[in-house]
Amino acid sequence: MFHLILTVCLAGSSEDCAPILLPQAEAGTRAECEARAGRIAESWLKGRSGLVGAGSECLPTGELTALPLQQVAPGVHVYIGDPVQMEESADGRIANLGVVIGEASVAVIDTGVSRAQGQELFAAIRRLTDLPVSHVILTHMHPDHALGTSVFKEAGAEILGHAAMPMALDIRARGYLDSITRLYPPAEVIGTEITLPDRTVADRDSIDLGGRSLSLRAEGTAHTDNDLTVFDEATATLFTGDLVFRELAPVIDGSLTGWLQWLEVAPRPVPQVIVPGHGAVTDSWAEAIGPQTEFLTALRDATREAIAAGAPMSDAVPQVTKSLQDMEDTWNSFPETAARDATAAYKELEWE
Ligand SMILES: [Zn+2]
Repeated sequence: MFHLILTVCLAGSSEDCAPILLPQAEAGTRAECEARAGRIAESWLKGRSGLVGAGSECLPTGELTALPLQQVAPGVHVYIGDPVQMEESADGRIANLGVVIGEASVAVIDTGVSRAQGQELFAAIRRLTDLPVSHVILTHMHPDHALGTSVFKEAGAEILGHAAMPMALDIRARGYLDSITRLYPPAEVIGTEITLPDRTVADRDSIDLGGRSLSLRAEGTAHTDNDLTVFDEATATLFTGDLVFRELAPVIDGSLTGWLQWLEVAPRPVPQVIVPGHGAVTDSWAEAIGPQTEFLTALRDATREAIAAGAPMSDAVPQVTKSLQDMEDTWNSFPETAARDATAAYKELEWE
């Protein structure tokens, strides 16, 4: 297959440029791709007044930059992000992303931090199959998971998320885009946009990829208020999104007690492969959630203790963080994240 790459620069700068893959021009031959190029490039640039085109070309799949994917079960491929916080990463590619290939189409689970990462995921899929990408499932609104969606939307995919996800992402949109612009070079960020779900899941739903179905489940407030899990029936692979952190210190942006409740209930059917939001894939549920459960439980108990002793938040947060210090070796980006989590825990638990 051939793919249209449009070079796009920030208006007023010929140096801050990035390649934008426009999937609508995808074609079996270079000539067909080139025949579509002008119209598709023009229509993409129209309405994006901050960007200007600087030439385009049609490239075969093998020449596209692609994310490295690992097959973790038949037809299930995963990009393993670098398990550190966004601030410590050179490009924000910290989250795990998934691809499930059916007989008729492909589903993507999370799209990464930027248009650039989404495009490289698209290219990685094209190295595996020419089937259409029919669905994108976003596990929650966080920027490291949900900002690479636009390229898949342009490829015709339906975008799914938790019922609370559109509002959660929409109100944080400006902040997320500002923060990736501040943290990463323009070539990583140019073209990145917020893409909201087309279809939301309030409880359960399923999607059919042809001979293969994925079950989606909207969870209660835990890591965030819009966590969604995805289960591949064919291989019993569970994509937990950030309900499971490994290696990277867990971040609370929803409810500590809700998250601990979620962890108490073992998933049914029993997953054979667990893909966490961050860190390594595993086949053991106990291994997947063990360190995280220990951390969140200790955080809850230390915070309750500080509140019961009458400590104001300004004293409680450093106290609680210090009490968790012996877990530091288990987690990346620990002290900063633990302090943020202690603040979130205090605000939640002081009303108990
Ligand atoms: Zn998250």
